[in-house]
Amino acid sequence: MEKKVALITGGSRGIGKAIAKKFADNDYNLVINYISDNTNLDELREYLENGNNIETLFIKTDITDFAACEEMAKKAIEKFGRIDVLVNNAGITKDMLLMRMKEEDFSKVIDVNLKGTFNATKTVVPYMMKQRNGKIVSISSVVGVSGNAGQANYAASKAGIIGFTKSLAKELASRNILANCIAPGFIRTDMTDVLSDSVKEHINEQIPLKKMGTAEEVANAVYFLAGDENTYITGQVLNVDGGMIM
Ligand code: NAP
Repeated sequence: MEKKVALITGGSRGIGKAIAKKFADNDYNLVINYISDNTNLDELREYLENGNNIETLFIKTDITDFAACEEMAKKAIEKFGRIDVLVNNAGITKDMLLMRMKEEDFSKVIDVNLKGTFNATKTVVPYMMKQRNGKIVSISSVVGVSGNAGQANYAASKAGIIGFTKSLAKELASRNILANCIAPGFIRTDMTDVLSDSVKEHINEQIPLKKMGTAEEVANAVYFLAGDENTYITGQVLNVDGGMIM
């Protein structure tokens, strides 16, 4: 049987990389999007292809560029003939209290996190519609639900992803395309490594499970929503946060 295909934005590091490994372990061919060259890409390709009997297509694309996203979806179809799963994972932070936040830092975060999610989704959905089948999982954040001082730009982008996803879920249900969000809490990746030890300790105190999560724990939840066994969950936000938001 033809293998299914998952396209993961920002699949080179952190949570995206763990998601790529999860889908590879479950026999999906992969399209991995990233933006900056780094030496770990060869190692990741080696792990994905040699550890598993699958094929990969690595595509360097800035997801803020709509035309480049169209090209990415086209290349994925040329290679694999189908896209079954889209994971909108690529994201950035530029944290600052509102009074000191620069306009360009607000725009940049919205552009990558929210507009990038639109770009990737808008360019992949036509293929899913033709297939009359597809799963879209977008990585939001608990701060998109709760807000967070110093993250007005990031929280707005992540709240936007939730509204976007719920609208998609309603628009695309008739074509058998399911759209959901994962809202991670604090997960150990490059994004949170920049926090000082004292901030990390403070964060852990706020989490009922008293520790940050792992990228693999997020990947398991993504796979739950995007895999074949999910046939009746759409328009939902699943928190993966050690109980932070209840
Ligand atoms: P990360 O380690 O900083 O990785 C970010 C990924 O996004 C990288 O693969 C990066 O590619 C890619 N990327 C950034 N800008 C891009 C662009 N313009 N076009 C294409 N790719 C781009 O982040 P992470 O912690 O794994 O976070 C992944 C997602 O989870 C993000 O959406 C983030 O907001 C969300 N999240 C994270 C946490 C957390 O605690 N870590 C919590 C809640 C939500 P390169 O490697 O090429 O730079």
